[in-house]
Amino acid sequence: MKIAVLPGDGIGTEIVAEAIRVLDALDLSFEMETALVGGAAYEAHGHPLPEATLKLAKEADAVLFGAVGDWKYDKLERPLRPEQAILGLRKNLGLFANFRPAICYEQLVGASSLKPELIAGLDILIIRELTGDIYFGQPRGRRTAVDGHFPGAEEAFDTMRYSRPEVERIARVAFEAARKRSKRVTSVDKANVLETFQFWKDIVTEVHKDYPDIELDHMYVDNAAMQLVKAPKKFDVIVTGNMFGDILSDEAAMLTGSIGMLPSASLNSSNQGLYEPSHGSAPDIAGKGVANPLATILSAAMMLRFSLNQAEAADRIESAVKHVLASGLRTGDIWSEGTKRVGTREMGDAVVAAITKKTITG
Ligand code: NAD
Repeated sequence: MKIAVLPGDGIGTEIVAEAIRVLDALDLSFEMETALVGGAAYEAHGHPLPEATLKLAKEADAVLFGAVGDWKYDKLERPLRPEQAILGLRKNLGLFANFRPAICYEQLVGASSLKPELIAGLDILIIRELTGDIYFGQPRGRRTAVDGHFPGAEEAFDTMRYSRPEVERIARVAFEAARKRSKRVTSVDKANVLETFQFWKDIVTEVHKDYPDIELDHMYVDNAAMQLVKAPKKFDVIVTGNMFGDILSDEAAMLTGSIGMLPSASLNSSNQGLYEPSHGSAPDIAGKGVANPLATILSAAMMLRFSLNQAEAADRIESAVKHVLASGLRTGDIWSEGTKRVGTREMGDAVVAAITKKTITG
């Protein structure tokens, strides 16, 4: 099993280092190879996704990714900005299905901005289509308007589009995932206004005929945004397009209190995947040793489960994380009165100790 390790920028290097220590503690045999990506790769090679990094990622069974970006690169032309590396990896590896679980750990109920009764026991999965929609649709650009409200004025435009196979495959991913959970899928669209999303809704409904054991409902994205804060537990699996998924998955992330807790997986049709925390490179706390490494450690657990066929090892990591939280250790982002504040390294140490001392079962 080969893992491409791409720590990236900012806190990326600190949190990925902890995830690697956790993987090492499992005593499984992985080959791990590290490469530069994002701003770090731009500094060294003049490009955020150098050929060698892309080649390594393509050859690996899975990619463990930290985060990329820093404000200092904001003035670079778009193709050279660190964030382009993520888009390039998604596109080149065909990573069309993004899994973002939003789980509220019992010990962190108080960290949410919502009332405990709304959030306790929350366990939802957002599946976001990742390689289509308005983020990739062509044509796009700037031009002089020839019609619209202000003919002759400067305007910008993007294209929202989805093809039948793109919607069919993400719908199947969602129904399959629901089969392993509570067998409910909510497809989120804007079919009342957008042709693309009426098409989306029609196709999801068609694909659903192959999954009679799964309950399907449809919801407009504006309502879904409201329901996520009003009654999040009524959802189980949410499937949606690239742009709506981008926004809703961040909203769901914050339901659980800290973005520092949330892992993610992006998979292609052969289960090769890129695993990364849901947060960015956090330049404001980079280098201080205070970042929460748990989202990255939990992303490594998802990697073991989805791409490396090591479900038992994934369970061990997840149990270790619960054990550490139950013992009262907290990084600053999830700290509250009565708990012990620790740094990135100490949090990693505690997870490793929970795994190696075999204090954890199942
Ligand atoms: P961010 O997620 O990096 O940070 C938002 C806030 O959350 C900050 O206050 C940060 O300190 C805090 N935070 C994030 N992760 C944390 C952790 N593990 N532990 C404790 N606190 C944490 O988002 P941002 O500030 O909007 O963006 C910073 C940079 O990251 C930008 O350059 C952006 O483009 C990039 N970015 C990268 C990715 C990615 O690599 N996948 C995703 C989002 C943003």
